[in-house]
Amino acid sequence: MTTFKGFAMKRLNETGWVEKEVPDCEPYDAIVRPTCVSPCTSDTHTVWEGAIGDRKDMVLGHEAVGIVEKVGSHVKNFKEGDKVIVPAITPDWDDEAAQRGFPSQTTEPLGGWKFSNFKDGVFGERFHVNLADANLALQPEELSDEAAVMLVDMWSTGMMGAENADIPLGGSVLVIGIGAVGLSAIAGAKLLGAGEIYAAGTRPISVKVAKKYGATNIINYKEGSIDQQVRDATDGAGVDSVIIAGGNLENTWKEAIASAKAGGTVSNVNYLSGADNVLIPRVEWGCGMSGIKITNGLCPGGRVRMERLASLALNKRADPELLVTHKFKGLEKIEEALYLMKDKPKDLIKPIVKIEE
Ligand code: NDP
Ligand code: ZN
Repeated sequence: MTTFKGFAMKRLNETGWVEKEVPDCEPYDAIVRPTCVSPCTSDTHTVWEGAIGDRKDMVLGHEAVGIVEKVGSHVKNFKEGDKVIVPAITPDWDDEAAQRGFPSQTTEPLGGWKFSNFKDGVFGERFHVNLADANLALQPEELSDEAAVMLVDMWSTGMMGAENADIPLGGSVLVIGIGAVGLSAIAGAKLLGAGEIYAAGTRPISVKVAKKYGATNIINYKEGSIDQQVRDATDGAGVDSVIIAGGNLENTWKEAIASAKAGGTVSNVNYLSGADNVLIPRVEWGCGMSGIKITNGLCPGGRVRMERLASLALNKRADPELLVTHKFKGLEKIEEALYLMKDKPKDLIKPIVKIEE
């Protein structure tokens, strides 16, 4: 195969199918054939909100599992035919930012995010993976494609939101937004020892999974401000940790900071778009002296991260398949799945597309 078909962002606000040359496989790289992919809310920010600017004929998608088609001469751990988990984020592990402990930010801010950002993504018949030994993981036989494809971005990002939130053992946590990312944050918070977990969202299917993943209280953000509802439920105390995994720039940051206890942590994983500034509420932030910390991050990638997430799934610490609500078959269904992700019907958490059994 010298060319491949892929579903692309043709330009801002326009998608379509493209035919491209299969990329070269350099000595440390691999070419992979996807067997199962899933669209991300970030793909919709990219195409329809211009969150990272314009792109021309760029194949979309960064959530995939697949089969190795080709490896470069220096690749040691993978061979043709291996079934692999492909992290959404594929850092340059030799870059100085990786050595400082920030692999997702290698070469430039957000630079570990290559698929459907700086190069063609995974919504095609073939895609290229840099530094295959560090950026692929073998997919255990017991782990289904449905489960494995939920690890590469949703679990990795959501659980990072919890890891960054400094959750004290038995502490209280608020998760704002319970799409697939927020739900994964709930699962992560529970695993990290949270006591009470407040979850803000309304989609009935998400509420159901939130409870299964460990939420103890559901907050309907349409029925009043989140911070007021959290204060009411905690006798005015607020929570130790807040994870932002949804919402908007008008209200959410104010509600997050106003929900945190003095000295608490607000951990953002939401991909911000729609305005140029994030507004930190001065009074609720203790006039800048409350000790409330703000952290954030891009999804962690890499082989070890994927192996650890797979271990959580295999040891039944939580079930990634609960996030999958819609299943499609065949490459051409990627288009429908992406538009579903854009429109977010009430019964949706995540769609997947099986390209090959
Ligand atoms: P979804 O759109 O599926 O979920 C968003 C959630 O936010 C829903 O539960 C929704 O509620 C809730 N919400 C909407 N409006 C408000 C509001 N005003 N106040 C509070 N909650 C609100 O998104 P995903 O879970 O797929 O993704 C979440 C974010 O994470 C996206 O911005 C995505 O781009 C980003 N992301 C970031 C990554 C990173 O590396 N940092 C990686 C991957 C994704 P309702 O139930 O009513 O619909
Ligand atoms: Zn994503």
